[in-house]
Amino acid sequence: MDIAFQLAGIERWGRRLIAFDLDNTLIQQVTIDELVRAEAKILRRETSVEDEILAGISARVKSNELDFNEAFKKKVLLLQGKNAEPLLKHVVNNLKFTPGARRLCRTLKRLGYKMALISGSFMTVAREVQRELGLDYAFANELQVDPVSGEFTGYTVGPVVTPQRKLVLLRRIAEVEGCDLSQTVAVGDGQSDIPMLEAAGLGVAFNGKPQVQAVADIRVNNNDLSSVLFLLGLSEAVAIHLGRDLDKGEDASELSASLGGFAIPPPFWEPGLPSLPENQPTTS
Ligand SMILES: [Mg+2]
Repeated sequence: MDIAFQLAGIERWGRRLIAFDLDNTLIQQVTIDELVRAEAKILRRETSVEDEILAGISARVKSNELDFNEAFKKKVLLLQGKNAEPLLKHVVNNLKFTPGARRLCRTLKRLGYKMALISGSFMTVAREVQRELGLDYAFANELQVDPVSGEFTGYTVGPVVTPQRKLVLLRRIAEVEGCDLSQTVAVGDGQSDIPMLEAAGLGVAFNGKPQVQAVADIRVNNNDLSSVLFLLGLSEAVAIHLGRDLDKGEDASELSASLGGFAIPPPFWEPGLPSLPENQPTTS
């Protein structure tokens, strides 16, 4: 069971910018791993070879033999010589959005939040997620493709989105949007999100690794990303109202059901919201 305690204060209603990690946050996948497995999947063969190689790299990270960047480079190198377009297309067409991600973004947009994706994955995928969720900004790595052969070179171009760069990007977007870092929210699960989570006004570890949970202001350990709405102080009624235009497979009763085991902060009434009956605070 998750319980979230926050100090009540005006800051909670004054947040204006939210930055999301991609892998295992907005989507339930790790983009580079999906790209490495894509060829096998297109050919409908088992991915056991790729799984073994990826597991080997992960094991070396765990034993501190490789750091985050070295592991990333090794994985990107696995793409060398592969035809880029079909693999990217396969990953984009098979994105698995985290439950509640669409509702969360739709609702925050209506509340006037600016939303950014700051990811160590790749621009082709990030742009698709940006379009799908209506995000204002998207930053990720650019995979280098040989313009003649159309194959991955096994390298990236431009600055790599390191943990430190995630923080720099959050700062820069806040500057452009004219808001203070204290008015920002950052949501992520991995070690590379730690600097950004620490610097944001509210750092949310979403099913975070233990080290991430240790530094975050708030930990969400259920599978529904729209839980973040309640951390921002929305009552269940307001969240359901704002989250209308529900997609296939997502409805209000599902949201209510997903709240089981989640502590809902006291409802609030924000004068700026349109005066509709559904917006009235609920008391229980
Ligand atoms: Mg992640």
